[in-house]
Amino acid sequence: MSKGKSEESQSGENDNYGYELFPERKGEFTPTVTGVLTGNQGREGIERLKCERNVYKCFTTSKLVKLMAGALKASGCDIDLRRHVVCEVCNSRVSGGYDPETNQIVICQNNSRSEGVVQGIMTHEMIHMFDYCNNKVDFKNIDHLACTEIRAANLTHCSLTSSILQGDVSPFDIKANHKICVKRKAITSIIAVRNVSVDEAIAAVERVFPKCYNDLEPIGRRIKGGGADAKRAYAEGFLYGYV
Ligand SMILES: [Zn+2]
Repeated sequence: MSKGKSEESQSGENDNYGYELFPERKGEFTPTVTGVLTGNQGREGIERLKCERNVYKCFTTSKLVKLMAGALKASGCDIDLRRHVVCEVCNSRVSGGYDPETNQIVICQNNSRSEGVVQGIMTHEMIHMFDYCNNKVDFKNIDHLACTEIRAANLTHCSLTSSILQGDVSPFDIKANHKICVKRKAITSIIAVRNVSVDEAIAAVERVFPKCYNDLEPIGRRIKGGGADAKRAYAEGFLYGYV
């Protein structure tokens, strides 16, 4: 998912563009007394360290994350872990996000605890970062948002392993269902952060789908088979000057 700010408001309560899901972005998070007593809060420091360790591991070991980092660098948008990736406490509805205002990827330390999940979020949000850098994505425009969400789902989320984990498809019909998976994920991402109806989200996804589904920059292939495709994409990276 991604979030953005401003744009004309449709309903008056639509002004924050998802920022209420990321209370630390606006300095609004403080652990509550009941939260601390029940053990649900007060562990933010430990969670943050674990999250930062996962981020660092992905950055140094994940082929896809390295490929995306190379693509960003080649586009003049070099990613510096300390400047561009932050672990924060978020609303339970979201696992991560991209904040175009600060050009930062947010990993939700309270919801995204495993290295695998962090890797998935990193690659997803790095595609938003790439699109913001290269394609001048206007996150306030729902068609632009739909396009970058389609690309992120297409290139990473709807892979064999993550789809099975999330129950979207069985391995036997992954080809037929890949488009459905991408559409569903993109629609879910849009309605998670925007105050739009499901119908509006579907309409935006359908409007831009053919163009954005076929745009495979910068990974060059849909990552469906897990390891092998990721290695192949990485091996081809030098052709584009990314690695
Ligand atoms: Zn997204």
